[in-house]
Amino acid sequence: MAAGRIERWALLLNQYDYEIEYIKSEENVLADALSRLPCKDELQQDVEQKLYNVSVIEEDFPLTAKEIENATLKDEVLTTVLKYVKEGWPEKSVCNIMSEENSLKPYISKQLELSCIGNCLLWGQRVIIPTNLRERMLKELHWEHPGICQMKAIARSYVWWPKLDVDIEMIVKNCQTCQSVRSTPPTTPLIPWKWPARPFQRVHVDYCEKDGNNFLVLIDSHSKWLEVVHMKSTTSSRTIEELKVIYSRYGLPEEVVSDNGPQFVSAEFESFCDKNKIKHTCSPVYHAATNGAAERAVRVVKEALTKQVLDGNSKLSMKHRLANFLLKYRTTPHSTTGLTPAELRKLRTRLSLVSPNIAQYVEEKQAQQKLYKDPKINSEGNFN
Ligand SMILES: [Zn+2]
Repeated sequence: MAAGRIERWALLLNQYDYEIEYIKSEENVLADALSRLPCKDELQQDVEQKLYNVSVIEEDFPLTAKEIENATLKDEVLTTVLKYVKEGWPEKSVCNIMSEENSLKPYISKQLELSCIGNCLLWGQRVIIPTNLRERMLKELHWEHPGICQMKAIARSYVWWPKLDVDIEMIVKNCQTCQSVRSTPPTTPLIPWKWPARPFQRVHVDYCEKDGNNFLVLIDSHSKWLEVVHMKSTTSSRTIEELKVIYSRYGLPEEVVSDNGPQFVSAEFESFCDKNKIKHTCSPVYHAATNGAAERAVRVVKEALTKQVLDGNSKLSMKHRLANFLLKYRTTPHSTTGLTPAELRKLRTRLSLVSPNIAQYVEEKQAQQKLYKDPKINSEGNFN
């Protein structure tokens, strides 16, 4: 605890240039006055909150299984559940009576799906968080203000407790930042491109401009993996340079889709694609929204940056803010695939075939989204 607090102070003070001067206590009027003026706790909380905002990545050590184990053993309800999981549940009739009035009810109905590792309780793959750690976990889930749906999606991959969904809804409802940037439904129709079977089969590129800063955005259609590069210049050659860096990491894409931005329609860009056998598809003129996936990624980035600026996080460098955002995005299950971009980026092996068919799942999802699409555009994103 103390170490964490000192670390946060160190982080905060890091940003100032200061001199240390020794003052005798009897001459140190200021300190004396302050120490004699009782101060309400709110101020302290305010300071703590600001410090928390300095950076979540380096903030307190993340919640560990060990801590959860210790807290589980101190949690009245969970120790009982743990005992039943280890030694067997009472008979059905006893369970029925127990579930009538007490807090064990949500666990009794899930008894067949509960297990434990050490003293950590699990519901399926999800770790059950003891009462006194729930607030901290909620804070963790709320990091970067992902909104209700995303918070629930992240929680589903990791943690559970009774009324978790209600707690999530409450925290978002009471958060000004979340409320102020609640995304408005998109006015452009969603164009479902066919979902590629492999990572980097098709990528979408675009530029995003925010407060005079330009970002090159690249999104892989298969995994939804996102790359965002802060660019000083947006010329063709600078764009190609950055794309080369990205391609060196993930391999050459088979197809790249862009709008008709000058950097993408130049002879230089065409020649770069040709030489590397990358098919370049431009979205139809006057219909930039066809570059659907990239447009959406741009919106996500803009929204995220706005959230962070609104959040008062401006002390962080642009690089740091972007890193925070990308880490969050890449490890959050995507609404279309149901998996995190990081999970889908992994290389395909023969064993990948044992997993349920995600392609089918994505196509079903897209079929639902198609209902909203502009009837003038066919499913390949071209005009009829
Ligand atoms: Zn929020």
